[in-house]
Amino acid sequence: MNTNYDIIIVGGGHNGLVCAAYLARAGKKVLVLERNAEVGGAAVTEEIAPGYRVSVASYLISLLLPEVVNDLDLPRHGYKVLGRNPSSFTPLPDGRSLLMGPDAALTHAEIAKFSQRDATAYPQYEAWLTRVAECIEPLLLEPPADLIPLPAHWRRRTWVQKLRELLRGRRLYQALRGMGDELPQTIELLTGAARPILDRWFESDALKATLATDAIIGAQQPISAPGTGYVLLHHVMGLAGGARGVWGYVEGGMGAVTQAMARAAVGFGVEIRCNAEVAEILTANGRASGVRLMNGDVLQAKALASNATAAVTFSRLLPAGALPASFTAAVQCIDYSSASMKINLAVSELPDFTCLPGKAEVGPQHRGTIHISPTLQYIERAYDDANAGRPSQAPILELTIPTSVDKTLAPAGHHIVQMFVQYAPYRLATGLHWDALREGFADRCIAAVNDYAPNFAASILHRQILTPLDIERRFALTGGNIFQGAMSLHQLFSMRPLPGWADYRTPISGLYLCGAAAHPGGGVTGAPGRNCALEMLRDL
Ligand SMILES: Cc1cc2nc3c(=O)[nH]c(=O)nc-3n(C[C@H](O)[C@H](O)[C@H](O)COP(=O)(O)OP(=O)(O)OC[C@H]3O[C@@H](n4cnc5c(N)ncnc54)[C@H](O)[C@@H]3O)c2cc1C
Repeated sequence: MNTNYDIIIVGGGHNGLVCAAYLARAGKKVLVLERNAEVGGAAVTEEIAPGYRVSVASYLISLLLPEVVNDLDLPRHGYKVLGRNPSSFTPLPDGRSLLMGPDAALTHAEIAKFSQRDATAYPQYEAWLTRVAECIEPLLLEPPADLIPLPAHWRRRTWVQKLRELLRGRRLYQALRGMGDELPQTIELLTGAARPILDRWFESDALKATLATDAIIGAQQPISAPGTGYVLLHHVMGLAGGARGVWGYVEGGMGAVTQAMARAAVGFGVEIRCNAEVAEILTANGRASGVRLMNGDVLQAKALASNATAAVTFSRLLPAGALPASFTAAVQCIDYSSASMKINLAVSELPDFTCLPGKAEVGPQHRGTIHISPTLQYIERAYDDANAGRPSQAPILELTIPTSVDKTLAPAGHHIVQMFVQYAPYRLATGLHWDALREGFADRCIAAVNDYAPNFAASILHRQILTPLDIERRFALTGGNIFQGAMSLHQLFSMRPLPGWADYRTPISGLYLCGAAAHPGGGVTGAPGRNCALEMLRDL
């Protein structure tokens, strides 16, 4: 057994695997240590009953960088995206419904059922979001420009690093300048609240509520809170689904992405060990020198990258006193609030929606994301419950049925239904505990779908429920936050994970952050892993 490596990666989430692959491709001897029985982090497929496989947490792809797909040659390792058309379906209590997707004519006709004005405005709204996304996306491929005037003792930089910051700052400036007259609205989108933006663009509540769900995914924020605009943008970025912002399924579930990444990494010479939880990051003379595993094994390396959250990396894996007190205090301020839950179901038949009936064949209502979120008021009320420390009385649900296009996940004729639930707050009111609420709240979510598709509850054969607490326990995601830290402006770009430390480096020399905790944050992007590897190679 080798005990000496160039680089050890703590955590085999998709970013850890991407980071490892890039480092090994450059000739480094790399070991990935994963605490779970398999790699993949929040992007894993699991059999919940014989013959029924689900994407346990993450379930759709859009943001994965084309650079990562190509550099790791992921299609050769089994990665295949299955497009969705239509990509969304919103059933409404009054018996109407809204279908939307890459088919512009269909989307126009569907929105026009609610408002002719909105049908005309929608392509312009999409075009604007595309312009903003195209302005922002290049900035995700490198460390963010850090122009914050921090005290020198917080972060010392060489003149070469300072010059790089200036060049990145120039690229940021130029990218934003590219928005021209639209810059004020762009800044509002990047920093402000989603609701006023949607209210200005559209009049139909059904359309606004459908779009607004993108703004609250993974956040414990109401749609009227600043920061939700960026989450809205985040969810229309990326091309991995086949077209901009159209999220796709991955054949075999999201685990197929990370299995492909693992195969690519191993092909480059990476060693991967599962069931290998790191108990401590070791340092010698102020430099990261290796790890001690839970089983007592000690492994040495010239450098380490952590795929774990900043809280786990800095507060749990490093001994007290290893970091400057001001840095430790800042880590304790990171916002991990979260209100997301996942329910995965095996069902004997498709949901038969009253407003668009049909269950014998897959219909347009089954292929995309099904939004149980009929009005903006419904979303605000659902948030109010969570804010008071209770799971929403009427929760917001996003259902996906991957078996509508992927035949590898369930026996013929049967289906997988995945429900992403907001708002289910990690922090509950006094006296409440998720272990007691889990089953009852899942029943409430299922009943909410049943109101629109009366055959739904009776069709369920097996279920897997992940409360925010389960998400934390299973994936070591602090506070159950699906993005390894909230995606609000104060925790994005040069502020992620902390001001002064957004270039994947940390106050411990030789220790880097390579996961969603770092720029550009959460989602299955591969960006933090790739960027971190390139920065490490620069240093090493
Ligand atoms: C319920 C849910 C739904 C989501 N839906 C989507 C979606 O549809 N599309 C999308 O793009 N994104 C989605 N996301 C977000 C996305 O999955 C994450 O942002 C992304 O997986 C983060 O990847 P990562 O590699 O940075 O970290 P993670 O996936 O969090 O992986 C970190 C890894 O480190 C390991 N680890 C931690 N501590 C240690 C230790 N001490 N020793 C060894 N190993 C350790 C963990 O076990 C884990 O495997 C979702 C997330 C969740 C939770």
